[in-house]
Amino acid sequence: MNQFDVIIIGGGIVGLTAACALGTAGLSVAVVEAREPAVDTGVRDARVYAVTRASERIFTALGVWDAISARDACAFREMRVWDAGGSGAIHFDCADIGEPFLGHIIEPRFIQAALLERLQALADVQLFCPAHYRDIEIREDHVTVMLKDAGTLTAGLVVAADGARSPLRERLGIQVRAHDYKQSGLVALVKTEQGHQETAWQRFLPGGPLAFLPMRDGWCSIVWTLPTAEADQMLALGSEAFHAALGEAFEYRLGRITDSEQRKAFPLRRQHATRYISERAALIGDAAHTIHPLAGQGVNLGLLDAAALAEVVTDAQARTRDSGSIAVLRRYERWRRGDNLLMMSAMDAFNLLFGNTRPPLRWARNLGLSLMDAAGPAKDVLMRHAMGLEGDLPALARIPEEVSRTA
Ligand SMILES: Cc1cc2nc3c(=O)[nH]c(=O)nc-3n(C[C@H](O)[C@H](O)[C@H](O)COP(=O)(O)OP(=O)(O)OC[C@H]3O[C@@H](n4cnc5c(N)ncnc54)[C@H](O)[C@@H]3O)c2cc1C
Repeated sequence: MNQFDVIIIGGGIVGLTAACALGTAGLSVAVVEAREPAVDTGVRDARVYAVTRASERIFTALGVWDAISARDACAFREMRVWDAGGSGAIHFDCADIGEPFLGHIIEPRFIQAALLERLQALADVQLFCPAHYRDIEIREDHVTVMLKDAGTLTAGLVVAADGARSPLRERLGIQVRAHDYKQSGLVALVKTEQGHQETAWQRFLPGGPLAFLPMRDGWCSIVWTLPTAEADQMLALGSEAFHAALGEAFEYRLGRITDSEQRKAFPLRRQHATRYISERAALIGDAAHTIHPLAGQGVNLGLLDAAALAEVVTDAQARTRDSGSIAVLRRYERWRRGDNLLMMSAMDAFNLLFGNTRPPLRWARNLGLSLMDAAGPAKDVLMRHAMGLEGDLPALARIPEEVSRTA
């Protein structure tokens, strides 16, 4: 009864996506999630996700995209980025690369709900929730997971999708390289005088970037990176003072801020696991990496991890190879670790470059932005990368014609 091909610890968006991918491929999966299943009380999420085209394809391939987009999903067709320290600016438009949009802004609760619905339709996927894993025992040919109050589960592979603090990663003895940005991501939902124009806006300020992301109901979700003490001050302000400070920081691009709710701050930290695998175990999502939110890539990278790991495991099973063995899992680690590191380093470079107020650097980056804006092909490549349309993508994130061409 409690024997599975794969056990996933953590039923966040990344863990649930991995379970859907493995379950859809015919594997038996247990998902262990500590939190009570969320009841939709209608309270909006303060933090929303910019979901790339690659992630949308993964959700489409798993049969959950229609359920997500029916609930939420605001397509954005343009992106405007500019520097507070000069006249440099760049404008991305989906029409320039023949795409209908650049991505979607979605509240996580809707993604979670659609994934849970899909899991319930998969006969071989079992959700243990609320349930905590207590310990694991790794043997030569299987892994046993002991749950608090819910018995034991066995499988050939255990997956840590249990978030940035990942108790399972710690139990496996996998170290992380970490850097505290000493910044917080202040998020809130805000109403602006003028409509958002289906555009994602980002202004680079010396303390960090400020993004206005369009939502389906016409509001915007903001992510304002600030030195931690300043973020705390913003949290403590009354509504009127906060609206005034935010409007000014955004140069009133969409007019005055007329309303806001759900103001919260998240400490920002980069973290990267030194290994993604050990015998009979693999890390995915924030358990493997956390990244600066300035390009909204965190969960998108996690979804690519989930799709890549599912592909490696199902390929191994089809060839009757042991999918929990290091020899098989190494393909997953090689595939994802380098790509994630590249994206993390690029975000750090942006954060450092735009946070610098020294005149020569400010001048150079403004020139760089303007040159990039004028350079059609280079800009298109950058756009396609940010949308997740380039690179070594797992089959679930590719369009079906591409998959059959390379099969
Ligand atoms: C301000 C901010 C803005 C962001 N914006 C974006 C964005 O626009 N786009 C984007 O792609 N990303 C964004 N991110 C990143 C994104 O939030 C994360 O990458 C994403 O939530 C990671 O998902 P996950 O499923 O890996 O982990 P989590 O969402 O942390 O899920 C882990 C799950 O594991 C469970 N768990 C933990 N311990 C146990 C245990 N012992 N037993 C059982 N279950 C356990 C938890 O309850 C939880 O449900 C942003 C982050 C921040 C801070």
